[in-house]
This record gives sequence, structure tokens and C-alpha cells, in this order.
Amino acid sequence: MTVRPPLRAAGSAPAEPTGPPALPARWDPLVTSFLAERSVFDEVLRGFGTPVNLLFPQVFADNIDRLTAVLDASGTGYRICYAHKVNRSRALVRTAAGHGIGVDVASSGELESALAAGFTPAQIEVTGPKGEAFLRELVGSGVTVNVDNEWELQTLADLADPARPVPVLLRVSGFAGSQVSRFGIPVPRMEYALAILARHRDRLVFQGTAFHLDTGDIGERVRAADTCFALLEHAYAAGLAPTVLNIGGGLRQVFTADGDRFDDYVSRLRASLGGAGTAMSWGNNTFGYHVDGAAVRGTPIFHKYANTVPADEMLADLLNAPLARHGGRSIARVAADNLLDIWLEPGKALADHTGITVARVEFVKSAADGSVLVHVDISRDAVTPADQEVMADPLLLPGERPAPAENPVGVFLAGRLCLERDLVTTHMVWLPWLPRPGDLIVFPNTAGYHMDLSAAAAAMHPPVPKVAVLRHDGHFRAIPDADHRPTIPESPEVS
Ligand SMILES: *Cc1c(COP(=O)(O)O)cnc(C)c1O
Repeated sequence: MTVRPPLRAAGSAPAEPTGPPALPARWDPLVTSFLAERSVFDEVLRGFGTPVNLLFPQVFADNIDRLTAVLDASGTGYRICYAHKVNRSRALVRTAAGHGIGVDVASSGELESALAAGFTPAQIEVTGPKGEAFLRELVGSGVTVNVDNEWELQTLADLADPARPVPVLLRVSGFAGSQVSRFGIPVPRMEYALAILARHRDRLVFQGTAFHLDTGDIGERVRAADTCFALLEHAYAAGLAPTVLNIGGGLRQVFTADGDRFDDYVSRLRASLGGAGTAMSWGNNTFGYHVDGAAVRGTPIFHKYANTVPADEMLADLLNAPLARHGGRSIARVAADNLLDIWLEPGKALADHTGITVARVEFVKSAADGSVLVHVDISRDAVTPADQEVMADPLLLPGERPAPAENPVGVFLAGRLCLERDLVTTHMVWLPWLPRPGDLIVFPNTAGYHMDLSAAAAAMHPPVPKVAVLRHDGHFRAIPDADHRPTIPESPEVS
């Protein structure tokens, strides 16, 4: 038998947190006061029923302001493009338009949404894989096309009208030390792509290079930026005049309110997977860990929920990172010195804490193994991004009857679909009392991919409605998400 590894290195064990394992979620103060006041919240529940998604455009505006402050301080020209795909909310995309930032769209539907929200074509950038029909729609429209591959570039050159040349960025991939990506033009093929651009400069206006890395790692982005600066030098040499370095999205969210409790939960979960203590996972779920007897190794699928570094700090670290090839000057400085604007495409960082999802408890039952299943009126796909496990505790709120005084109980939340896999949580969640039918479960921070990315119309359940919640002069107001039209400037009373 394998010896179970210690949960923590000797000497580093913090004081054991009291109470059951917990994953305390961070809640925005605006959201907390909305839930605490209950009056408008109860009105929303009566008007829209459950499940329901609530969006907080003022939190979104704050997120824009925080990233803007970092960029202003960096001394470089810049453009923030809100990555629309993170959420379908009208209120959020209109708030982005109202703030004068740009938008990154990845489909014809998102393009239509951005134009309807008030973006001008010059503020719109189109990313992602594009077929011929979509390219035909883009040519001559005035939007910037972030080109994914050589076929796309050549097709654009063939379709473009010299009377209305198409602004293009080239998405680069295959950076040293980065995982292979299905997107972008491999670095060694860039000479060829630049040659196409040089040949068709009457139809294609080269704006610059772009990358988007699906990682939280700063070092990878620094290497990518360094490579892009070198490619932009090649472009100047080829007679092109790029003005943009696009560093993509990937700025992270902060879900946890307590990194130590998060680590404590995870170490107890690992121990339980190895057979020690209370079982904490449903069925055979191992969350990406490799379990070999009592030995539990590897990186869990939910590691992003452990992050405690806010997006603005991550952006500042990236912009200030020194480049050896440029005498230690920072990325922001090299960009500024070369009159390059830095573009970024934050999705989840702008959506961070801008949405919550409310479901209602239908009933509670026991499974054959003794697990307590709390059935809710929502499905896993409407609160969880594909393939992940959300590691941030939901809030249990009393429905009609006041909260009882009881001891915390460890449960699994079960979804409304008649599929074995429709468990909203497959890790055990400790709730302050055994939920009763009619009690409410509030899922934190669901606007960033959780509520929209995977949500399906399975079993003919209608899509979860969206409601925008705003605070003006200390009072909350809720309206259908699609009806929110922000006035500028956005509610200055929200700090
Ligand atoms: C999805 C996507 C983004 C947004 O990513 P986040 O991680 O949400 O910031 C930005 N750029 C491109 C090209 C994308 O595909």
C-alpha cells in the first residue's frame, strides 16, 4: 500500500479552520446589499420566478474603470475590447459601449448585438474562426478583422474592395513554451502572412499582431509579447506600418474570499479521495486528480477558483514586465517608444462579480450511499462552464419561512434534468441548515462564462431569464436585462 503524502509540508500547517470544510465566495458589496435588503430581490423573484440570472452593470463599469486606471498609468496608448462571448447580456454590452471602450465579437450574432448596443464599426474587432459567409459580411463593414489563419487572410484579400480596405490584425500562435493552440498563424509562417499583406496593401491595412493565451501565466504572455515585437519589426522592414500589439484576454477572476480556507477544503478533498475522512465527492469524481490508492496527485480541473490575484494587478504586472531583448524596458514602454497601442480583450475580468444566479430548492432526498441530494430548479450547464467544477460556495437563503437554527449539513446540489450527470456540485457543499422546499440557492459570480457558455435548452426548459439590477441614490431597481440603457456617466454613487 502506498503511504499517503502529508497534506501540507511540515511546519506550514495553519491553524485548523473551525467548522466544516468551506469554500467562502467573494461577493461584491453591491450584490451583498441587494441580497440583504430583500425587498427588490423578492419583487424580482415574484416577477420573474426562478431560476433567474441577475446582472449588475455598475459592477461591470467599475471593472472597466479599474483596468483603465492601470492602462492610463502605464503611459502607453491602448484600447480595451470587451470580449462579448463571455455573456449574452444586453445590459453589459451596452455598458461597455456607453463607456467608450471597444468590443471583441466572434460571430455574426455578436456583431449584430454590438452594433445594436451602439458600437461604431471602428470600435469593433472580430476574432475567432470565420467562414466565408462571415468574411463576406465583414468586408467593407469597417470592422477590424483579427485574422486567424492564412486561408482567411487570402480570402479577405480576394474579397476586399480597394475603395474600402479592410483593417486586419494577425493572430500569432506557437510561442516558445506555450501549449499548442488551434488558433492563430504559427510564428514560422508569419513571414509568409506578412508577404501576403505587403502584396495586397491596397486592400488590407495591417494594424498589427495579436495573441490570446488560455492561461493565467504572466511569463507566457511576456514571451508572446516579446515575439510579437520582433514580428512587428519584420513588418516595418517589409514596408508595413503596424500600430497595434493586441495581448488578448485571460486576465483572471477572483472567486474566493479566503485562500487559506480554499486550500484547507482542497487538502481535505484530496485526503477524502485517498480514502481518509468524510467522503466529499459524488460517485467516482476525482476532479482531474490522479488517484492511486491513498496517493492523490496532479492538478485539479478547478484550480482557477483558487486565484487571489485581481485582474488589474495581473495587467499591471504584465505591462511592467521587463524585456531582456529591449534593455530591460517594460512591455508598456517598448510599445509606447514604438508608437504601438496595446489592445486587450478581457472577457471574464470585465464580467467578474457582475452576475449571480438564483435557483429554488424543490426537495431534498437521500441517495443509496447516504448522500444528501438537494434538488434545485436549475441545471448544471446553466451555472457551470464546460468541464469544470465551480469551487465557490453558494448562499442558502430562506424562502418563505425564516432560517432555522441548525447545524451545517454536507450536501450535493442536484439539477433539474433527468440525467445522471446533472449534479450542480459533485463536491460536497456544507450549507448552514438542511434546505427546505422553497429555500433559495444563490450562485456567486456567474456572469463570466458560467451562465451562458454551456447553457442548453435540454428537456425543453426555457432559458434562464436575465434581469439587470441597478442602484441609484441608495435604492435598487430591477428591469429586464434587455431594457437597460445606461446613461453616461454611469451612476457615480457606486464606488
Ligand atoms: C475568449 C477570448 C477572449 C476573452 O478571454 P477571457 O479569458 O474571458 O478574458 C479574448 N480574446 C479571444 C480571441 C478570445 O477567444
